[in-house]
Amino acid sequence: MTGLVVAMDGPSGSGKSSASRGVARALGLRYLDTGAQYRAMTWWMLKQGVDLTDPEAVAARCGEAEIVSGTDPDAPSIHVGGTDVSGPIREDEVTGVVSAVAAVPEVRARLVALQREIIGAGGIVVEGRDIGTVVAPAAPVKIFLTASPEARALRRSAELAGTTAEAQVAALARRDTLDSTRKTDPLSMAAGAVELDTTALNLEEVIAEVLRLVKERT
Ligand code: C5P
Repeated sequence: MTGLVVAMDGPSGSGKSSASRGVARALGLRYLDTGAQYRAMTWWMLKQGVDLTDPEAVAARCGEAEIVSGTDPDAPSIHVGGTDVSGPIREDEVTGVVSAVAAVPEVRARLVALQREIIGAGGIVVEGRDIGTVVAPAAPVKIFLTASPEARALRRSAELAGTTAEAQVAALARRDTLDSTRKTDPLSMAAGAVELDTTALNLEEVIAEVLRLVKERT
């Protein structure tokens, strides 16, 4: 298992984070949340007052953000310039604009390089949108998680008290469209990936299915 890379892609609310952490824990692997890195980059840009509607301004500054990801599945962490941003990156201010920042090719090049450095020789479960297609296309296990829009919104509103399911469906649909239609590395299922629809499954069932696939493919 030490050299294994498990690529977990899919839209938000498909259950990627909990499943990825559970699989990493069960196999004694590290865990990397690449979405948290795009969020951390966005948080830093907002803090710096960068105009996020201007891709050139975002591209010009993206090399300055010092992003550090902790890979313990029991306590994943994310810091920018030494500041713990694990709380602020989940707020609406970041969620509402992260897709615009993630669409900038220079941002992606920078973060993909960082992700490959962290993956190193493997032994890791990596979750995101382009792990199987771009970051680690040679990963022996690639999973594409999906779920119905309603199930995804329900999971998100359970996480974020105070938002309605309708508002969540709309916000997720907007982010999906941006993530799937951008020019650079859009969200798409990788060649050789296994699609896993989690709509009717609970977390334990999703983890068990991924572990079964890992066993089958390694
Ligand atoms: O996974 P999460 O919802 O936290 O990701 C936040 C955003 O980061 C996504 O909506 C997407 O725009 C971007 N992202 C990406 N590529 C990844 C991971 C996340 O573009 N590998």
